[in-house]
Amino acid sequence: MGRFGAIEAGGTKFVCGVGTGPDDIVTTEIPTTTPAATVAEAVAWLSSNGKVNAIGIGSFGPVDLHPDSPTWGYITSTPKADWRNFDLAGTIREALGVPVRFDTDVNAAVLGEARWGAARSVANCLYLTVGTGIGGGAIVSGRLLHGLTHPEMGHVRIPHDMAEDPFAGACPYHGDCLEGLASGPAIEARWGVRPEDLPPDHPAWALEARYLAYGIANYVCTLSPERILLGGGVMRQSGLYPAINGELERVLAGYVSKIPLAIPAQLGGLAGVLGALALAMD
Ligand code: ZN
Repeated sequence: MGRFGAIEAGGTKFVCGVGTGPDDIVTTEIPTTTPAATVAEAVAWLSSNGKVNAIGIGSFGPVDLHPDSPTWGYITSTPKADWRNFDLAGTIREALGVPVRFDTDVNAAVLGEARWGAARSVANCLYLTVGTGIGGGAIVSGRLLHGLTHPEMGHVRIPHDMAEDPFAGACPYHGDCLEGLASGPAIEARWGVRPEDLPPDHPAWALEARYLAYGIANYVCTLSPERILLGGGVMRQSGLYPAINGELERVLAGYVSKIPLAIPAQLGGLAGVLGALALAMD
């Protein structure tokens, strides 16, 4: 079958890999600086690991995924100025001379989990990462969910009781959207402490579980996933899982007859790069 290349293009680092699956992959991490420097380093590393048949890229966004668009494969309106309107897929394709498949980082992650991780046996699943931002990818009826652009699950609006939580929200676009209320930077801005330094019994976690449950309730009602996988730095607080599942049941109030459990993603930090590998292999 030959070997395949993968890039998980993140806002702080690129994870590159070459291989055929979780038991056969070599990876490296490259800091995300300027497009020229980071892509050159990624191309050099991928070239040095032998011939690959195709490259899959799961990228931070927003990105253009429309196959007919002249800017397909571009990172578009990102707040990271150097990367705005950068032709990531085209640059990689030209440098390596192989076909490139391109998708969002979270769609890559859910694909990786579906192929090799915690969502292997289901045709409908959701992956939500909660870290410096909040993003979601979904597989619906066995296919990655796309649309006019791509889902932006972190930016849904959720109930926000200003009397209980007067924090205005950290999203530069919407203020108190889900990401604005529940991302790692939002937690740090609200409490003045980084999430990893908050003790497990801190009230921050009950609020976090409620906000995430509000967001997940929206996805349960619209996508009906069989499994909900959570990842990202904030989700290292393991007490969040039972709290989220309890809140989810409360928020849905007995109307939805089957509520999927929110569980940890299985591939951990490799979900994105393995998903990108699966993109290449497809
Ligand atoms: Zn937002």
